[in-house]
Parts: sequence; structure tokens; C-alpha cells
Amino acid sequence: MNANRVHSETRITGKEPVGVLPRKGLRITNSDKLVVFITGRHLLSNIRIVLVGATHPGNIGAVARAMKNMGLTRLVLVEPKRFPSADATSRAAGADDILCRAVLCGSLEEAIADCGIVVGTSARPRTIASPVISPRECARLVAGLHPDTQKAVVFGREHSGLTNAELDLCGYWMTIPCNPDFRSLNLAAAVQVVGYEFFTTFHAGPVCAAIGKDPPASSARVESFYKHLYEVMVSVGFIHPDKSRSVMRRIRRIFNRAHLENREIDILRGLLSAVQESKIRSV
Ligand code: SAH
Repeated sequence: MNANRVHSETRITGKEPVGVLPRKGLRITNSDKLVVFITGRHLLSNIRIVLVGATHPGNIGAVARAMKNMGLTRLVLVEPKRFPSADATSRAAGADDILCRAVLCGSLEEAIADCGIVVGTSARPRTIASPVISPRECARLVAGLHPDTQKAVVFGREHSGLTNAELDLCGYWMTIPCNPDFRSLNLAAAVQVVGYEFFTTFHAGPVCAAIGKDPPASSARVESFYKHLYEVMVSVGFIHPDKSRSVMRRIRRIFNRAHLENREIDILRGLLSAVQESKIRSV
């Protein structure tokens, strides 16, 4: 297969399920760079909006409405204070189908476990760690990933946002550029701005995605790798358990940039296991 070949028959119409990529009988190897055209609707369908600890049910309804305006359909609620609720349904103003399909989770880890990219949003600038991107940069980043990648954009509590531990689970941080003296948008307004950037980026025309490589590994697998790495770093004396937080944040930042794939995680974990075994043998 020629590099950069455009296979017009694999064009996704937006009505076809994810499974049509690649077509039956079409084998894609790592060296092939197959370019396909994917419609906006297909790309929007595997973006989930995750609300952590939403306090006001009315805001959840307003978020559903903003999502539906922008063609987003998947809402995940992590420990909402009250849901379902008549307030949510009334503020959804016709987007109650999004509320009916909303998934409830007990933790952020659970909500994003299968995601290959997780973007946390914050009104406040925070010190260090993940790269901070704008909604537009986020939409472009997402458009360049393997089309089957599950994606999450995570929003925080109305009063306090996301905790640092929750932001640590996000490979990217997103801030909506606005008045530096008045940065905090209403939850639904924040979702609206982010959704608008996805919508306009994906509907400007067919998005070209290279699918000659695997999607990024899931958040759950990447988190297990960080846990393993942390254990080894402590056991070889590279870090002290009580003083490791900022080192681990920087290490996460290095690996987040790489969008690790499953096979790459396997290699790294194999290396860590070898270090652990050699340490046991040397005792
Ligand atoms: N007082 C909180 C703000 C909460 S606003 C704080 O200081 O963090 C509720 C949520 O809306 C935030 O957690 C974030 O997810 C989103 N949000 C509000 N304004 C935003 C902005 N300017 N950029 C990115 N996200 C924003």
C-alpha cells in the first residue's frame, strides 16, 4: 500500500458505526499510513464530557443543553450532589435524551478508565505539570488522534473546580482564555465554549486522520504503569515517598507527551519488572 494513499472507499458517512474502519480485508500495518476522511459526527461521538461533583442539578441540565447544541452526546457524572432531578430536566430544555443516557460513576478514575486522552479544565492557573492548552488547540489535538480513541474532557465543581489529584489524572489541562480578572465561567458556559471549538473544527470539512498506528493506551493502563514506575523509583532509592509529588508530576508530563500505546507500555513495564527482579536477586 502506498504511503499517504487516500482510500476513498473508507469514507465514513457519519451513519456508519466505528467498526467500518478499516474495511474488511484491508490490513493496515505499522508502516502503512492510510489516510481516511472522517466526518465530524463520528469524531464527536467518542468525546465524553465528565462533570466531577456537580453541586447544582440545574447546571447539569444546562450542560446537557450546551452539549446537544454542539453535537456532543456522552455525559458522565462523577458523584453529582443530586441526580436525576426535575431542575436538571427543566434546564436541559429538550436535551433530556442526554440526561437519560448520562452515566453515573463513583470516581474520576472509573469515568476515564478506557480513555486514550483526558483533558482537565481549570479556571485558575496552577503550578507546573501538564501542558496547558486552549479549547481550539484541544480540538486540533483530538482531530489528529486515531479516530477510535476515546476522549474525555473533565470539568470541576462549581465552587472549587478539580482537585490537584484529579488534575494529575489528566494528560492535558485546558484553560479557556478570558478576562484575567474574572476567569471563572459558569459550568455550562465552559462546556459550551469547548463544545463550540470541537464542533467548528470537526465540521469545517472532513478531518484527515492517519490510522496506520494504534490508538493511545487507556488511562487505566497508563495509571498502572505510573504506579509500577513509582514503586520501582522508591525501591531503588531514586525518590522518597514523602517528597515525590512534584517529581511524579514531571514524569507524568514526559510520558503524557508521548501518547503511549499498549505495546510501548508493555515494554516499559517489562523493563520495570526486570529492575525489580534484579534487585531481589542481588539481596
Ligand atoms: N472556583 C473554581 C471555578 C469553578 S467553575 C476554581 O477556582 O477552580 C466550574 C468549572 O468550570 C471549572 O472547574 C472548570 O471545569 C470550568 N471552567 C470555568 N471557567 C473556566 C475557564 N476559564 N477555563 C477552563 N475551565 C473553566
